[in-house]
Amino acid sequence: MLKNRITQLFNIEKPIIQAGMVWTSGWKLASAVSNAGGLGIIGSGSMYPDVLEHHISSCKVATEKPYAVNVPLLYPDIEKHIEIIIKEKVPIVFTSAGNPKTWTKILKDEGIIVVHVVSSSVFAQKAEAAGCDAIVAEGFEAGGHNGREETTTLVLIPQVKQAISIPLIAAGGIANGQQMLAAMVLGADAVQIGSRFICTPEASAHSNFKEAILSSKEGDTMLSMKKTVPVRLMKNNFFQQIRDAELRGASAEELNEILGRGRAKKGMFEGQLDEGELEVGQVSSMIKQIKPAADIVAEIWNECIAEAQAVTKYF
Ligand code: NDP
Ligand code: NDP
Repeated sequence: MLKNRITQLFNIEKPIIQAGMVWTSGWKLASAVSNAGGLGIIGSGSMYPDVLEHHISSCKVATEKPYAVNVPLLYPDIEKHIEIIIKEKVPIVFTSAGNPKTWTKILKDEGIIVVHVVSSSVFAQKAEAAGCDAIVAEGFEAGGHNGREETTTLVLIPQVKQAISIPLIAAGGIANGQQMLAAMVLGADAVQIGSRFICTPEASAHSNFKEAILSSKEGDTMLSMKKTVPVRLMKNNFFQQIRDAELRGASAEELNEILGRGRAKKGMFEGQLDEGELEVGQVSSMIKQIKPAADIVAEIWNECIAEAQAVTKYF
């Protein structure tokens, strides 16, 4: 049990947050992480409104602990998502991929805690000015949608820490207790972890995707589509098509044409490893086993404490 600004803000035991991930973090994963003392997040970006409603109500049955919903602000039906979140009295919302000015006040007026995900100090200050309660600063190592600036977690966290006064959650490149401790030394109050939680029985991602992560090697992911919406992907046939097009100078329109519709669903939910989009972070090469989410939370936390004690021996 650790008492700091984030555990107190969310009323959780351990400063470990499971990232909201499209097609991957439904109510099963979110409730398992919350029950283990962390904060689980339902990734609503891939859910039609009725599916989101189902996942929130199932989550409330599966856990009495706090949980959150991630809302990417570019979601097409966002008004409906916000309406459901307010109606279901979701306690915490993580917004991402958009301007935090639009929804923060509306959610906060309903008593909801609002956290916004950013990739730079400037965006972090904007989120603080918009009234957010905390910030997730996500470095270049992270999977899925990513900042254009390519600032790594090691460089990003201390700068965001200096730029804001609200609590800070570090993300990108964190999958074990050593990495968690490093992020906290850099100034984070908590960590947000995505990729590690894909390889759990509770994640709704396809087993082909989980297995692909387990057998991935260092260097197997890369940032793609910087001309449109930058996204870190595992290298596969689809990635290579995009890469070839980028190398020959294809326009944003051409890239969007190759992307088509529903690539993320194909890759991560339906397990089409060649033709789908596989959004995962650089740490995928460090993930070797599928384990229950609760075991991962406990292991990372225990390892973080042990490493903190071990490191003092050097000084
Ligand atoms: P479901 O709610 O369909 O549940 C799967 C299993 O869990 C069912 O066998 C059900 O048993 C059982 N179950 C349902 N509710 C509870 C509960 N409250 N407590 C305990 N057990 C329960 O979940 P899924 O994650 O499989 O998916 C539901 C829908 O959401 C699907 O349409 C799927 O496509 C979509 N989905 C979308 C995601 C996204 O990111 N967009 C992510 C995950 C899923 P029984 O039928 O016997 O009640
Ligand atoms: P596409 O436009 O290619 O496809 C939309 C996908 O989202 C489809 O697979 C569709 O499911 C599903 N979907 C869920 N709700 C709706 C809705 N109301 N209208 C249309 N489609 C819906 O988008 P992507 O797959 O690339 O991304 C999907 C969404 O995920 C984005 O809109 C964004 O919100 C979010 N996203 C956010 C990220 C982040 O914040 N970090 C990262 C990645 C994605 P179906 O195929 O069953 O119709």
